[in-house]
Amino acid sequence: MKVGFIGTGNMGGPMAANILAAGNEVRVYDTNTSATETLEEAGAVRCEDLLSLASNSEIVILSLPGPPEVDAVASEALESMSAGQTLVDMSTNSPAVVKRIAMRAQTKGVGFLDAPVSGGVRGARQGTLAIMVGGDKSLYDSLEPLFGVMGANLFHVGEVGAGNVAKLVNNMLAFSVMMSNAEALVLGAKAGVDPNVLWNIVRTSSGNSMTWEGGGRAILRDRLAPMFTVDLACKDIGLATDLAREVGVDLTMIPTAERLLKDFQASGFAKEDVLATVKALEEAAGVTVRGTWDQ
Ligand code: NAD
Repeated sequence: MKVGFIGTGNMGGPMAANILAAGNEVRVYDTNTSATETLEEAGAVRCEDLLSLASNSEIVILSLPGPPEVDAVASEALESMSAGQTLVDMSTNSPAVVKRIAMRAQTKGVGFLDAPVSGGVRGARQGTLAIMVGGDKSLYDSLEPLFGVMGANLFHVGEVGAGNVAKLVNNMLAFSVMMSNAEALVLGAKAGVDPNVLWNIVRTSSGNSMTWEGGGRAILRDRLAPMFTVDLACKDIGLATDLAREVGVDLTMIPTAERLLKDFQASGFAKEDVLATVKALEEAAGVTVRGTWDQ
């Protein structure tokens, strides 16, 4: 297959690498030229503009920061795409924005799917992402082998936009739990319980979750390099609360997590990993949980 991949950052880079490794012809484009270097070395062709990528690819995939970037790039790419081609947005995006893009694509006979992912940079590298897809089922079926190269858990969720509804619900849950996990570790430590002991207890008790196990371990090991930044988390949780307003659902817990994340964003954590915000809690409580891993 001739695949064009736009946005080869933390996620898109390894996703495009897996498509290439599966034997596809891959063209790449990113405004940051260093983001495509490794892919070029592996055999991908770097395009100097969107036009040459879009007109030479059967499938055009986007993995961009958020709605404004996707909206602009999709509009430009669609100008040089024609009937029979397919555009797939794998960014985390607003359901309303992807629906608008799908309508523009339809007027040109271009197929469109929204297909956001979960599983982080590690899942992108290992090809084990969860991919939640919205759009025409037969188009999804025809692209399932391509999704299978990037992900291990594939879901056709429903109409265009449904993929992002599922993604935003997942992420608002994950971020609010992450914020709670950090508070739990700091509270337990301040009140005199070894964070390692606490981590093991919760792991086998009712407070456990994927974010407690993985995120808690990363905090205790102090391995907090930016994999999922506070900026991206604010975008995702903001899109989730926008969606709630749009469909008329009153949320209480999630807006609290959103406020907390926005405060961290404004106080120097914007480019840090979400889990790294535990530093502020440690400082306020006068206790350290990072770097205490002893197992
Ligand atoms: P990133 O910032 O590392 O990558 C985005 C890339 O897009 C960058 O290389 C940037 O240079 C490029 N870009 C920006 N504007 C562009 C434009 N106009 N034209 C071409 N390229 C452009 O972000 P990421 O972490 O790879 O995330 C990408 C998407 O995946 C986001 O929507 C994010 O919410 C989602 N996501 C991220 C993770 C994660 O763990 N990082 C997990 C799941 C989903």
